[in-house]
Amino acid sequence: MLSFEDLKTRVADGSIDTVLTCLVDMQGRLMGKRFHAQAFVESGHAETHCCTYLLATDLEMATPDGYASTSWESGYGDYTMKPDLTTLRLVSWLDGTAMVLCDVMDHHGHPITHSPRAMLKKQIARLTKLGFSATMATELEFFLFEKSFSEIAKSGFRDLAPISDYNEDYHILQTTKEEGVMRPLRNHLYAMGIPVEGSKGEAEAGQEELNIKYADALACADHHSISKHAVKEIAWQQGHAATFLPKWSHERVGSSSHVHQSLWKDGKPAFFDPDRPNGKSELMDHYMAGLIKYAADYTYFMAPYVNSYKRFAKGSFAPTRIIWSVDNRTAAYRLCGEGSKAIRVECRIPGSDMNPYLAQAAMLAAGIRGIEEKLALPAAFTGDAYEDTASAHIPRNLRDAKEALLGSAMLRTAMGDDVIDHYARAAEWELEEFDRVVTDWEIARGFERA
Ligand code: ADP
Repeated sequence: MLSFEDLKTRVADGSIDTVLTCLVDMQGRLMGKRFHAQAFVESGHAETHCCTYLLATDLEMATPDGYASTSWESGYGDYTMKPDLTTLRLVSWLDGTAMVLCDVMDHHGHPITHSPRAMLKKQIARLTKLGFSATMATELEFFLFEKSFSEIAKSGFRDLAPISDYNEDYHILQTTKEEGVMRPLRNHLYAMGIPVEGSKGEAEAGQEELNIKYADALACADHHSISKHAVKEIAWQQGHAATFLPKWSHERVGSSSHVHQSLWKDGKPAFFDPDRPNGKSELMDHYMAGLIKYAADYTYFMAPYVNSYKRFAKGSFAPTRIIWSVDNRTAAYRLCGEGSKAIRVECRIPGSDMNPYLAQAAMLAAGIRGIEEKLALPAAFTGDAYEDTASAHIPRNLRDAKEALLGSAMLRTAMGDDVIDHYARAAEWELEEFDRVVTDWEIARGFERA
């Protein structure tokens, strides 16, 4: 991490000349500006501005209609980007560069309610009122490719050879071949204050996983977004591409982003009770029961695109059933960790395309409601959860998840109608685009034979 005083010193000695001021957008990407470091320091890390469309757009940076927050009619004005100096860090894979994350405000200094950082902060504040803090860890799975982003794009996204040739799950030899990307990634992130635990090969050719040590919920989401950005940038620097698409081929394994979570009270693990079965406390039962009861309501925040739903398939290690189990990778919610500090619930539904701020905010909202309602946790499932037809299925597609989001009284109360309507519009727009565009699959299937 870097203090503002450190930054000033480094700007004065010429070792830093650029400061990235970044907000996190609806898709979880870093968006913002490159400041000359001298100007950033002289302005006293002043606030800057950005167009309101940045929080009402899609992956293509389109300007869809139907958002109450901004529009052509309202003239697409400005938001204020307020640097959060506790996030100031060096970006050591870029020359002379530092980075700071910003909160998004209106002109009166009020947080923009649908901005991802504000949404997570709101749920953290609700939890604080109940006397707890949340500790989270996200896993980042992604694929590395032989070719660069632009080479792959020029091939019409057909030249998709992964960087290595066979399943590299826990495979040291295969992952040694990927160290050109992975070693600088781990080391640069660690140097910038992101507590990287390690990386490992995953269950496909070219598939890697990055593990970051748990942190308080906001820091965890910050770590995730910066790390995801770093994966793409460092891969690009090495002439390779990286994708966080959950399913880039129906013949390949998908990529997930499991979220580990536990609550703490006064520095002690509140999910632990050695006198109860599996060592989990009554509080953990209520929290997990909330996660389960409201899973469909917030699936959109864990699976925000059409492609996200291709991951949820039998025998894939991605869940299909809304059910919990003890250390069982076929269930959507896995109780894991032995002992007081490690006991936690892992939600296995989120895909690698999730926005961590939104997924964590939604899970906290569901868990808080579970605590408030003192929900009872059903008995743990044992066996192959893919075969359990008694439990509810995770929404099967974006359309169903959007409907569940729109109709969620729990999320409307926790996050606000304006926020839910905003993201439901994002989902609807994604579907409108998908319905409009003719895909390769349709042409190949029907061109001659239909
Ligand atoms: P998996 O076995 O699902 O691949 P990993 O071992 O890769 O899981 O990841 C475990 C993650 O859980 C790590 O990022 C670790 O920091 C995190 N973790 C450990 N204890 C806790 C806790 N009490 N609360 C939240 N996360 C935790």
